[in-house]
Amino acid sequence: MRNVVELRNIGMKYQSLNGEIPALENINLEVYEGEFVSIVGPSGCGKSTLLSIVSGLLPPTSGSVLVKGEKVIGPSKKIGYMLQKDHLFDWRTIFQNVLLGLEIQRAVTRKAKEYAQRLLETYGLSEFSHKYPSQLSGGMRQRVALIRTLVTNPQILLLDEAFSALDYQTRLAVNDDIYEIIKKENKTAIMVTHDIAESISMADRVIVLTRRPGKVKSCHNIKMKMDKRTPLSSRKVPEFQTYFEQIWKELDVHV
Ligand code: ADP
Repeated sequence: MRNVVELRNIGMKYQSLNGEIPALENINLEVYEGEFVSIVGPSGCGKSTLLSIVSGLLPPTSGSVLVKGEKVIGPSKKIGYMLQKDHLFDWRTIFQNVLLGLEIQRAVTRKAKEYAQRLLETYGLSEFSHKYPSQLSGGMRQRVALIRTLVTNPQILLLDEAFSALDYQTRLAVNDDIYEIIKKENKTAIMVTHDIAESISMADRVIVLTRRPGKVKSCHNIKMKMDKRTPLSSRKVPEFQTYFEQIWKELDVHV
Protein backbone atom coordinates (compact mmCIF):
# COMPACT_ATOMS: atom_id res chain seq x y z
CA MET A 1 0.00 0.00 0.00
CA ARG A 2 1.21 3.49 -0.83
CA ASN A 3 1.55 5.97 1.98
CA VAL A 4 -0.03 9.35 1.37
CA VAL A 5 1.11 11.07 4.53
CA GLU A 6 4.33 10.39 6.35
CA LEU A 7 5.35 12.00 9.63
CA ARG A 8 9.04 11.70 10.41
CA ASN A 9 10.22 12.40 13.93
CA ILE A 10 7.83 15.29 14.47
CA GLY A 11 8.58 17.37 17.54
CA MET A 12 6.92 20.59 18.62
CA LYS A 13 7.82 23.05 21.37
CA TYR A 14 5.78 26.21 21.92
CA GLN A 15 7.45 29.28 23.35
CA SER A 16 5.40 30.98 26.04
CA LEU A 17 6.01 33.71 28.63
CA ASN A 18 6.52 30.96 31.21
CA GLY A 19 9.08 29.17 29.08
CA GLU A 20 9.04 26.36 26.62
CA ILE A 21 6.03 24.03 26.33
CA PRO A 22 6.90 20.68 24.75
CA ALA A 23 3.74 19.62 22.92
CA LEU A 24 4.87 16.70 20.74
CA GLU A 25 7.88 14.42 20.73
CA ASN A 26 9.23 12.01 18.17
CA ILE A 27 6.01 11.26 16.27
CA ASN A 28 6.42 8.79 13.42
CA LEU A 29 3.38 7.78 11.44
CA GLU A 30 2.39 6.67 7.97
CA VAL A 31 -1.13 7.01 6.62
CA TYR A 32 -2.11 5.01 3.55
CA GLU A 33 -4.30 5.86 0.59
CA GLY A 34 -8.00 5.65 1.43
CA GLU A 35 -7.27 4.97 5.08
CA PHE A 36 -9.21 6.58 7.94
CA VAL A 37 -6.87 7.16 10.85
CA SER A 38 -8.04 8.54 14.15
CA ILE A 39 -5.86 10.10 16.82
CA VAL A 40 -6.97 10.03 20.43
CA GLY A 41 -5.21 11.20 23.55
CA PRO A 42 -5.73 13.08 26.78
CA SER A 43 -6.77 16.71 26.55
CA GLY A 44 -3.77 18.95 25.86
CA CYS A 45 -1.53 16.13 24.58
CA GLY A 46 -0.95 17.84 21.24
CA LYS A 47 -3.62 16.35 18.95
CA SER A 48 -4.67 19.64 17.36
CA THR A 49 -1.06 20.71 17.15
CA LEU A 50 -0.32 17.57 15.17
CA LEU A 51 -3.13 18.23 12.66
CA SER A 52 -2.01 21.85 12.23
CA ILE A 53 1.47 20.55 11.45
CA VAL A 54 0.14 18.06 8.88
CA SER A 55 -1.91 20.85 7.26
CA GLY A 56 1.23 22.93 6.80
CA LEU A 57 -0.22 25.82 8.84
CA LEU A 58 2.23 25.25 11.70
CA PRO A 59 5.87 24.37 11.08
CA PRO A 60 7.16 21.71 13.51
CA THR A 61 10.19 22.44 15.67
CA SER A 62 11.78 19.24 14.42
CA GLY A 63 11.09 16.54 11.87
CA SER A 64 9.12 16.71 8.66
CA VAL A 65 5.77 15.91 7.05
CA LEU A 66 5.62 14.38 3.60
CA VAL A 67 2.48 14.26 1.49
CA LYS A 68 2.83 11.87 -1.42
CA GLY A 69 6.58 12.03 -0.93
CA GLU A 70 6.77 15.84 -1.03
CA LYS A 71 7.82 17.77 2.02
CA VAL A 72 5.05 20.02 3.38
CA ILE A 73 6.30 23.58 3.73
CA GLY A 74 2.99 25.44 3.89
CA PRO A 75 -0.74 25.06 3.25
CA SER A 76 -1.45 22.87 0.24
CA LYS A 77 -4.41 22.23 -2.05
CA LYS A 78 -3.92 18.54 -1.41
CA ILE A 79 -5.21 18.98 2.12
CA GLY A 80 -8.69 19.94 3.35
CA TYR A 81 -9.35 20.90 6.95
CA MET A 82 -12.61 20.50 8.84
CA LEU A 83 -13.04 22.01 12.26
CA GLN A 84 -15.45 21.82 15.18
CA LYS A 85 -17.29 24.93 14.05
CA ASP A 86 -18.68 24.74 10.54
CA HIS A 87 -17.63 28.35 9.80
CA LEU A 88 -20.43 28.83 7.29
CA PHE A 89 -21.13 32.46 6.50
CA ASP A 90 -24.71 33.34 7.45
CA TRP A 91 -25.12 35.93 4.71
CA ARG A 92 -24.19 33.52 1.92
CA THR A 93 -26.49 30.84 0.54
CA ILE A 94 -25.48 27.20 0.90
CA PHE A 95 -24.25 27.12 -2.69
CA GLN A 96 -22.25 30.33 -2.19
CA ASN A 97 -20.76 28.87 0.99
CA VAL A 98 -19.80 25.69 -0.83
CA LEU A 99 -17.95 27.77 -3.45
CA LEU A 100 -15.93 29.69 -0.86
CA GLY A 101 -12.81 27.52 -0.94
CA LEU A 102 -12.79 27.66 -4.74
CA GLU A 103 -13.09 31.45 -4.65
CA ILE A 104 -10.14 31.69 -2.26
CA GLN A 105 -8.12 29.50 -4.62
CA ARG A 106 -9.43 31.54 -7.60
CA ALA A 107 -10.62 28.30 -9.11
CA VAL A 108 -14.34 28.90 -9.73
CA THR A 109 -14.85 27.33 -13.14
CA ARG A 110 -18.02 25.97 -14.75
CA LYS A 111 -16.72 22.45 -14.16
CA ALA A 112 -16.01 23.14 -10.50
CA LYS A 113 -19.50 24.61 -10.04
CA GLU A 114 -21.04 21.53 -11.64
CA TYR A 115 -19.02 19.34 -9.28
CA ALA A 116 -20.28 21.38 -6.31
CA GLN A 117 -23.84 20.96 -7.54
CA ARG A 118 -23.32 17.24 -8.01
CA LEU A 119 -21.96 16.81 -4.48
CA LEU A 120 -24.93 18.72 -3.04
CA GLU A 121 -27.28 16.49 -5.01
CA THR A 122 -25.56 13.23 -4.10
CA TYR A 123 -25.59 14.06 -0.42
CA GLY A 124 -29.19 15.27 -0.24
CA LEU A 125 -28.64 19.00 -0.06
CA SER A 126 -29.49 20.31 -3.52
CA GLU A 127 -32.93 21.54 -2.46
CA PHE A 128 -31.19 23.71 0.15
CA SER A 129 -28.72 25.30 -2.31
CA HIS A 130 -30.47 28.66 -2.17
CA LYS A 131 -31.25 28.59 1.52
CA TYR A 132 -29.10 30.20 4.22
CA PRO A 133 -27.15 28.35 6.94
CA SER A 134 -29.56 29.50 9.67
CA GLN A 135 -32.32 27.52 7.89
CA LEU A 136 -30.39 24.23 8.22
CA SER A 137 -29.96 21.83 11.15
CA GLY A 138 -26.55 21.38 12.80
CA GLY A 139 -26.03 18.05 11.06
CA MET A 140 -26.84 19.43 7.63
CA ARG A 141 -24.52 22.38 8.21
CA GLN A 142 -21.69 19.99 8.99
CA ARG A 143 -22.41 18.11 5.74
CA VAL A 144 -22.26 21.44 3.87
CA ALA A 145 -18.94 22.19 5.55
CA LEU A 146 -17.57 18.86 4.35
CA ILE A 147 -18.84 19.44 0.81
CA ARG A 148 -17.23 22.90 0.82
CA THR A 149 -13.95 21.16 1.71
CA LEU A 150 -14.43 18.42 -0.91
CA VAL A 151 -15.21 20.83 -3.75
CA THR A 152 -11.55 21.90 -3.92
CA ASN A 153 -10.76 18.20 -4.39
CA PRO A 154 -8.22 17.63 -1.60
CA GLN A 155 -6.68 14.17 -1.36
CA ILE A 156 -6.47 14.26 2.40
CA LEU A 157 -9.06 15.40 4.89
CA LEU A 158 -8.14 16.53 8.37
CA LEU A 159 -10.96 16.51 10.91
CA ASP A 160 -10.31 18.28 14.19
CA GLU A 161 -13.05 17.45 16.72
CA ALA A 162 -15.35 18.09 13.77
CA PHE A 163 -18.46 16.72 15.51
CA SER A 164 -17.99 17.98 19.08
CA ALA A 165 -20.40 20.88 18.73
CA LEU A 166 -23.31 18.58 17.85
CA ASP A 167 -25.72 16.96 20.29
CA TYR A 168 -25.30 13.21 20.80
CA GLN A 169 -28.01 11.91 18.46
CA THR A 170 -27.12 14.31 15.65
CA ARG A 171 -23.49 13.42 16.13
CA LEU A 172 -24.14 9.71 15.57
CA ALA A 173 -26.09 10.47 12.39
CA VAL A 174 -23.45 12.90 11.12
CA ASN A 175 -20.70 10.34 11.84
CA ASP A 176 -22.50 7.99 9.44
CA ASP A 177 -23.07 10.68 6.80
CA ILE A 178 -19.53 11.99 6.84
CA TYR A 179 -18.04 8.49 6.87
CA GLU A 180 -20.11 7.52 3.84
CA ILE A 181 -19.06 10.63 1.93
CA ILE A 182 -15.36 10.18 2.77
CA LYS A 183 -15.37 6.53 1.71
CA LYS A 184 -17.45 7.13 -1.43
CA GLU A 185 -15.21 9.98 -2.55
CA ASN A 186 -12.21 7.79 -1.76
CA LYS A 187 -10.43 10.26 0.51
CA THR A 188 -7.73 9.64 3.05
CA ALA A 189 -8.72 11.01 6.44
CA ILE A 190 -7.00 11.87 9.70
CA MET A 191 -9.35 12.66 12.54
CA VAL A 192 -8.57 14.00 15.97
CA THR A 193 -11.10 13.40 18.73
CA HIS A 194 -11.24 13.00 22.48
CA ASP A 195 -14.16 10.57 22.02
CA ILE A 196 -12.91 6.97 22.09
CA ALA A 197 -16.21 5.53 20.82
CA GLU A 198 -16.32 7.91 17.87
CA SER A 199 -12.75 7.11 17.00
CA ILE A 200 -13.24 3.31 17.04
CA SER A 201 -16.54 3.51 15.17
CA MET A 202 -15.08 5.49 12.27
CA ALA A 203 -11.43 4.57 11.93
CA ASP A 204 -9.47 1.81 10.22
CA ARG A 205 -6.68 2.55 12.68
CA VAL A 206 -6.65 4.33 16.04
CA ILE A 207 -3.46 5.97 17.27
CA VAL A 208 -3.26 6.64 21.00
CA LEU A 209 -1.03 9.47 22.18
CA THR A 210 0.51 9.82 25.63
CA ARG A 211 0.07 12.83 27.87
CA ARG A 212 1.94 15.98 26.86
CA PRO A 213 4.40 15.95 25.27
CA GLY A 214 2.41 13.64 23.02
CA LYS A 215 4.18 10.53 21.76
CA VAL A 216 2.66 7.54 20.01
CA LYS A 217 1.67 5.14 22.77
CA SER A 218 -0.06 2.48 20.66
CA CYS A 219 -1.78 1.74 17.37
CA HIS A 220 -4.91 -0.37 16.97
CA ASN A 221 -5.99 -1.81 13.63
CA ILE A 222 -9.76 -1.81 13.86
CA LYS A 223 -11.24 -4.93 12.39
CA MET A 224 -14.95 -5.65 12.60
CA LYS A 225 -16.67 -8.73 11.26
CA MET A 226 -19.51 -7.28 9.20
CA ASP A 227 -20.49 -6.90 5.57
CA LYS A 228 -21.03 -3.19 5.24
CA ARG A 229 -19.39 -1.28 8.01
CA THR A 230 -20.86 2.02 9.12
CA PRO A 231 -19.95 3.96 12.29
CA LEU A 232 -23.33 3.20 13.84
CA SER A 233 -23.25 -0.53 13.05
CA SER A 234 -19.64 -0.71 14.31
CA ARG A 235 -20.85 0.32 17.75
CA LYS A 236 -23.05 -2.78 17.94
CA VAL A 237 -20.50 -5.56 17.43
CA PRO A 238 -18.64 -7.28 20.33
CA GLU A 239 -15.20 -6.21 19.01
CA PHE A 240 -16.19 -2.60 19.61
CA GLN A 241 -16.34 -3.07 23.38
CA THR A 242 -12.99 -4.90 23.39
CA TYR A 243 -11.26 -2.05 21.57
CA PHE A 244 -12.99 0.47 23.81
CA GLU A 245 -11.73 -1.17 26.98
CA GLN A 246 -8.16 -1.47 25.65
CA ILE A 247 -7.98 2.15 24.56
CA TRP A 248 -9.73 3.41 27.70
CA LYS A 249 -7.05 1.68 29.82
CA GLU A 250 -4.27 3.12 27.70
CA LEU A 251 -5.64 6.61 28.02
CA ASP A 252 -5.42 6.37 31.79
CA VAL A 253 -8.24 8.85 32.21
CA HIS A 254 -8.35 8.57 35.99
CA VAL A 255 -4.80 9.86 36.55
P1 ADP B 1 -5.07 18.82 22.29
O1 ADP B 1 -5.59 19.09 20.92
O2 ADP B 1 -4.58 17.42 22.46
O3 ADP B 1 -6.03 19.19 23.37
P2 ADP B 1 -3.24 21.00 21.71
O4 ADP B 1 -2.52 20.58 20.49
O5 ADP B 1 -4.33 21.98 21.55
O6 ADP B 1 -3.76 19.72 22.52
O7 ADP B 1 -2.19 21.61 22.74
C1 ADP B 1 -1.07 20.89 23.24
C2 ADP B 1 -0.37 21.69 24.31
O8 ADP B 1 0.26 22.82 23.73
C3 ADP B 1 -1.33 22.24 25.37
O9 ADP B 1 -0.68 22.17 26.62
C4 ADP B 1 -1.55 23.66 24.96
O10 ADP B 1 -1.82 24.47 26.09
C5 ADP B 1 -0.22 24.03 24.32
N1 ADP B 1 -0.40 25.02 23.26
C6 ADP B 1 -1.20 24.89 22.18
N2 ADP B 1 -1.10 25.98 21.38
C7 ADP B 1 -0.21 26.80 21.98
C8 ADP B 1 0.34 28.09 21.65
N3 ADP B 1 0.00 28.73 20.54
N4 ADP B 1 1.25 28.63 22.53
C9 ADP B 1 1.60 27.98 23.64
N5 ADP B 1 1.14 26.76 24.00
C10 ADP B 1 0.25 26.18 23.19
